Amino acid sequence: MKKNKPITLNDIPVSKRPKFATSISCMDGRIQAPILHFLKEKFKVNYVDIITEPGPIKYLDGNINHAVVETIKKRVKISIVTHRSKVIAVSGHFDCAGNPVNKKKQLKQIEGSVRLVKTWGYKVKIIKLWVDENWQVRVLT
Ligand SMILES: [Zn+2]
Repeated sequence: MKKNKPITLNDIPVSKRPKFATSISCMDGRIQAPILHFLKEKFKVNYVDIITEPGPIKYLDGNINHAVVETIKKRVKISIVTHRSKVIAVSGHFDCAGNPVNKKKQLKQIEGSVRLVKTWGYKVKIIKLWVDENWQVRVLT
């Protein structure tokens, strides 16, 4: 083996690997840092795999665009299986250009999105988040 070879996750025993969380969120640049910070604090993870689309919940709710849903699903799989993420956060946010519907509708879409993500069968925690007009992350119950 070459000296100074960069270390990959596979070089690290499973118990000592960094911890990951998974975020399915909008591509909106205003929400990434708040979600990242929230998930790192709340779940004591080192990294967050961020899966973005413009308003992904509008696709996941009711599985309305197969191609988009499949690409999200593929990325979730990498995060869960390879990075061993233990939590998936599904979020919506204030002033979403990719999904310009009101908060009430978005909250329904988040519910529907979580229902779909659950059918993917991963034994991980799935949480619902709302990023409000002050870019604060709220946990939805
Ligand atoms: Zn958005």
